[in-house]
Amino acid sequence: MIKINENYLKLRASYLFSEIANRISTFQAAHPEKEIVKLGIGDVTQALPQACIEAFHRAVDEMANERTFKGYGPEQGYSFLREKIAAWDFQARGADIAADEIFISDGAKCDSGNIQEIFALETKIAIPDPVYPVYLDTNVMAGRTGKFNNGRYENILYLEGNLENGFIPNLPNEPVDLIYLCFPNNPTGAVITKNMLRNWVEFARENRALILYDAAYEAFIRDDKLPKSIYEVEGAREVAIEFRSFSKTAGFTGTRCAFTVVPKTCMAYDHDGNKYSLHALWNRRHSTKFNGVSYPVQRAAEAVYSREGWAQVQRLIQYYLKNASLIRREITDLGFECVGGKNSPYIWIDGQMDSWEFFDLLLEKAGVICTPGVGFGKCGEGFIRISAFNSYENVKKAMARIKDALTK
Ligand code: PLP
Repeated sequence: MIKINENYLKLRASYLFSEIANRISTFQAAHPEKEIVKLGIGDVTQALPQACIEAFHRAVDEMANERTFKGYGPEQGYSFLREKIAAWDFQARGADIAADEIFISDGAKCDSGNIQEIFALETKIAIPDPVYPVYLDTNVMAGRTGKFNNGRYENILYLEGNLENGFIPNLPNEPVDLIYLCFPNNPTGAVITKNMLRNWVEFARENRALILYDAAYEAFIRDDKLPKSIYEVEGAREVAIEFRSFSKTAGFTGTRCAFTVVPKTCMAYDHDGNKYSLHALWNRRHSTKFNGVSYPVQRAAEAVYSREGWAQVQRLIQYYLKNASLIRREITDLGFECVGGKNSPYIWIDGQMDSWEFFDLLLEKAGVICTPGVGFGKCGEGFIRISAFNSYENVKKAMARIKDALTK
């Protein structure tokens, strides 16, 4: 008899986005004339940068010619892309990362979800609350948690975010093995300073733990004093794996290209305390289960690291940051406390009421969609997330409507 992986039964239904969709369709059925502005989902809206499009086209033409055609590529990615990433994203900022420590993939979602496979089942995990749900759910699927009880899974150490700590969790007061961190953060938009990140690196070193650092939104960091990579902190090469993506950086959400950095000095241990290279383990996993990102997509991503491509990406990011700053300003003027919106595309707002109540209020009175914070964890209750991924015109319209709705 074929049996299911019963860990899947512990998962909470992906209630958040389906519940949002339900509430929108009920509202639209009742008010078909009302136009809705969506500032809920974290998907980009602007077209790919011109340099990426041109490189994409050229590479597709190469595939049409027998002499330049490419079949299977290296699973880890083409060296033309890995070398540019190492030079532009890391070495240029003083982070000692080599091209062969970079694994090109089709998404930071898959990588941050799949990475847990290379760690023991009894790994003690620390996960922030609120959190990007992938980290938690993939560990539930693997059987590292107990049941879901009162908003929490058993066997997980939750790192609580709140207004007092600015949604930058405090260090655990007990040893853990694996720590998930994400900065700039989704959903809160919080960013971390180098000094604070140094504390996490020191904690990991002292506890022989590993940090999984999700930097999918690093391109939004404009303040040069803030770290874009965990490897800007001394000692991180031994205790951190970093995830990056072209999704939010260069509008690749539908094109798919990302990468994971696993330094060769990063180690984990077996039951007897013998050291093993995580680079070798991840390489084994990646080359067994993944067959590489398509050649044209890697060429399109490479174009980000050209003079024109880089300038175009900066303009794209600036565009969304202008939206973020408008949202932040208007929300603050209305008297709400918020986090994010600077060096980040997300604004996390204390609604001073139940998350879903605030969601309904914005939908019904302003026709604006946000994301209820409680969908990202218990600590998100009372908050909503507004995303800057939309056109400036739509963001302006949404903010004017919110102001109108909340001041009348
Ligand atoms: N990591 C975080 C924190 C995200 O918010 C997202 C997407 O929303 C991802 C990773 C996924 O990135 P990708 O499109 O590369 O899978």
